[in-house]
Amino acid sequence: MTPMDYPGNLFVVAAPSGTGKSSLVKALLEVDSRMELSVSHTTRAPRGQEVHGREYYFVSDEEFDRMIAADAFVEWAQVHNRRYGTSRKAIEDKIAAGADIVLEIDYQGALQIRRQFANAVLIFILPPSWDELRRRLQRRGEDSADVIELRLRNAAEEMAHVDAFDYVIINEVFERALFDLKTITHSQRLRVAAQRRARADVFSALGIR
Ligand code: GDP
Ligand code: ADP
Ligand code: 5GP
Repeated sequence: MTPMDYPGNLFVVAAPSGTGKSSLVKALLEVDSRMELSVSHTTRAPRGQEVHGREYYFVSDEEFDRMIAADAFVEWAQVHNRRYGTSRKAIEDKIAAGADIVLEIDYQGALQIRRQFANAVLIFILPPSWDELRRRLQRRGEDSADVIELRLRNAAEEMAHVDAFDYVIINEVFERALFDLKTITHSQRLRVAAQRRARADVFSALGIR
C-alpha cells in the first residue's frame, strides 16, 4: 500500500518544549475517538508520571541503535541531546486500519514525515511569548534548571522552521488553541481526497468515478 492509498489521515504536531503540545494533543484524543496517538521511542529517562508504552517507549542507546540498523523507524532525530523516533509499527498498522494518527514530534521529524507521506498535515504550535514559555517549563516542574535552559535555547531554532508547516496555532488561551486544533483536523477530514479514501463506499454507490 502506498502512503496515498491509506484510508486514514496523518497529523504531525510540533512545538518547542513547554508550549503545551502534549496537553493539547491529550485533550484532542479525549474528545476525538477516531484519532490515535503514535507512541514514540526515546532514549531520555521517564519523568515522574510517565509510563512505558503510554507517553513513550523508553529504551537504551543500544536498543535505539539496533532499531536504526533494523530500519524500524520512519523518522528519528536528536532533540535536546537525546534521541527520539517514530517506529513504523507505531503508525502503519493504525493508518492501514483506517484510523487517523497524530504524531507529537520535533520539526526535524516532521520534515522527514512530509517527505514520505505527501498527505501528512503539519501543525506547529507557538507559545504566546518567551516569558510565558519559560513560565510553563518552570511550572511543569519536570525538568532541572539546566534542562529548561537547554530547551529554551533550542526553541528559537525550532521556531525558525515554522514556514515549512501547513498550520500554526498560538497556544495562549488553552480552549481556543484546542478549538483551533479540532478545526484543522475536522477540515482535513472533509477534503475531497480524504473523503474519497474514508468513504469510498458512498462514492462508489453514487457512481462517482
Ligand atoms: P470567532 O472566534 O469569534 O471567530 O468565532 P468561532 O466560531 O471561531 O468561535 C467562537 C468561540 O467559541 C471561540 O471562542 C471558540 O474558541 C469557541 N468554540 C467554538 N467551538 C468550540 C468548541 O468545540 N470547544 C471550545 N472549547 N470552544 C469552542
Ligand atoms: P509540551 O508537550 O509542548 O512540552 P506540555 O503540554 O507539557 O508541553 O505543557 C507545558 C506546561 O504548560 C504544562 O504545565 C501545561 O499544563 C501548561 N500549559 C499548556 N497550555 C497552556 C496554556 N494555554 N496556558 C497556560 N498553561 C498551559
Ligand atoms: P519531551 O522530552 O519534552 O517529551 O520531548 C522533547 C522533544 O522531542 C519534543 O520536541 C518532541 O516533539 C520530540 N519528540 C518526541 N517524540 C519524537 C519522535 O518520535 N520523533 C522526533 N523526531 N521527535 C520526537
